[in-house]
Amino acid sequence: MSQLEELQVSLSDTDIFLTHFHSDHTGLSTDLIQPGSKLMISAKDANMLGIYGRTLRWKERNERFLKDGFPPDLMEETWKQNPARSAVAEPYGDYVRLYEGDVMKYGDYVLKCIDTAGHTPGHMCLYHEESGTIFLGDHILFDITPNIVWWGEMEDALGTYLSNLDKLTALDITVPLPGHRHWAGISVYERIQQLKRHHTRRLEEICEILSVFPGLNAYEIAGDVSWKIRAKNWEAFPVSQKWFAVGEVMAHLDHLISGGFVRRLENETGKYLYYLN
Ligand SMILES: [Zn+2]
Repeated sequence: MSQLEELQVSLSDTDIFLTHFHSDHTGLSTDLIQPGSKLMISAKDANMLGIYGRTLRWKERNERFLKDGFPPDLMEETWKQNPARSAVAEPYGDYVRLYEGDVMKYGDYVLKCIDTAGHTPGHMCLYHEESGTIFLGDHILFDITPNIVWWGEMEDALGTYLSNLDKLTALDITVPLPGHRHWAGISVYERIQQLKRHHTRRLEEICEILSVFPGLNAYEIAGDVSWKIRAKNWEAFPVSQKWFAVGEVMAHLDHLISGGFVRRLENETGKYLYYLN
């Protein structure tokens, strides 16, 4: 609140645009929004904040993670301590639902909504063409890598993400504003290439693991991937980080399957196992 006062933001004259539904980007929005102001988010991510997102989606996700080898006792632990659930925005029935290409006008400013699904099913950036400014949310971060995990709502979240990285190369961007940390000096176009290389390396690593150990599940593959994290080994990963790591591997596996490189088989106990094609 004190920062808003410092910027002399009058909340009663302020609409709020949410890049995506994650709690660290939406948690307080329902407290800040004033009667008569608009609280805006993509239609897809508005669904994630509704009853579906709050209950059914988690049930579906947990079931899928168990099929992919996530241990049930760890699943219960993540369920208890997940900040995505505890810091979630209050229920709100009146989101303005945005779609690709929607335009908003504030005085002389024209802002365009750019669908950048991948990090979440309805992630959106906001672009001010005249100044080359873009509000990136978590689509592109500069000193950390946005995490791309499996979504039941998307057939190939990573593939969608990668093509939505390419989508930004067609825009003239001179001021990229990421949702976390800093814009670290390099251009958004260089950062896009770095992020694509990062995912290519991870895809290659997963294929390498499967060439040596065919028939692993996603949890086991995640244990063999080299992660940048301050933990001695896979066993020492905090459980919440394990959950993200497995979700990342699942998204990479979906992408390898859609490219025809990997196949998924279900064993007699209903668990998914992965093989190179
Ligand atoms: Zn996020």
